Amino acid sequence: MRVLVAEDNPVTRKLLQRSLERRDYEVTVAVDGTEARQILLGNDAPKLAILDWIMPGIDGVEICRELRQRASASYIYTLLLTSKARREDLLKGLEAGADDYLVKPIDPLELQARLRSGLRILALQDQLIAARDAMREQATRDALTGVWNRRAALEILDRDFHRARRLHEPLVVIMLDLDHFKRINDTRGHPGGDAVLMEVVRRALAVLRPYDSLGRYGGEEFMVIAPGCDAQSGLDLAERLRESVVASPIPLAPDSLSVTLSLGVASLADDPTPESLVHRADKALYSAKNAGRNRYAMA
Ligand code: GH3
Ligand code: MG
Ligand code: MG
Ligand code: MG
Repeated sequence: MRVLVAEDNPVTRKLLQRSLERRDYEVTVAVDGTEARQILLGNDAPKLAILDWIMPGIDGVEICRELRQRASASYIYTLLLTSKARREDLLKGLEAGADDYLVKPIDPLELQARLRSGLRILALQDQLIAARDAMREQATRDALTGVWNRRAALEILDRDFHRARRLHEPLVVIMLDLDHFKRINDTRGHPGGDAVLMEVVRRALAVLRPYDSLGRYGGEEFMVIAPGCDAQSGLDLAERLRESVVASPIPLAPDSLSVTLSLGVASLADDPTPESLVHRADKALYSAKNAGRNRYAMA
């Protein structure tokens, strides 16, 4: 674990550094407040900081205050070092955002104990961040294929729809549905069907541009949102998507399987809402199915 020691007194600084290094902390030192502030506000700052209260430049309390004013950066656990044992001073330090304090002269055992409680807090924070990221992922991603889930795709569509309207730019929505997918499940089992879905997504993503979005709309139905794409480019894209899937059979055990899909393309016209665009793409998909599948149709 990395720790910053900011202390202007060279004797105390050396003492702290030795004591910490003996416990396998990786110590960064700052000889005054200005240097400490620079390190802590920089990228890749240590997450543990021991800050002397009184230092040239900027004092430890002021550094704590600045750290706490930043909303986004990751949490830095701060221990204030003080020779002032007066209660009101300590309160001032804690109110400024210090997590804990140590009174000089420093007792090495107390130092270790207080750092351990800091480490516990930091570990909890890491767990919280990991849980939050996992929940964010679950809330927006389809677990099987990794593409946007329906809700996230509709949010992206909403954003792209309003941007396209405002800027008078084209926008295409393509609804894409695998043909006779039920048969694939029936003959190859559900895991086989899942493998087909994953491979279709892989091929579709290879055809899309970085600013296109792919979402899983339902079981074996996907939605492509292509901003800046006009009607003709939308048809070209639909054909490229179809081609990417039918071009070669999908590898499956015991033998590979030819899969086709149908697509409905809708290009932004006077649609009052994103739903209207989706609805038209859906109707086009339905016509493509009725016309014999393995093709696209334009709304
Ligand atoms: P069509 O050509 O008219 O689209 O026929 P279809 O069989 O593809 O369409 P239908 O909607 O009748 O069947 C879709 C099937 O997709 C039914 C459902 O069991 C299956 N399915 C839905 N989600 C999943 C999934 O996550 N994994 C697998 N393996 N199958 C799924
Ligand atoms: Mg000092
Ligand atoms: Mg289908
Ligand atoms: Mg379907």
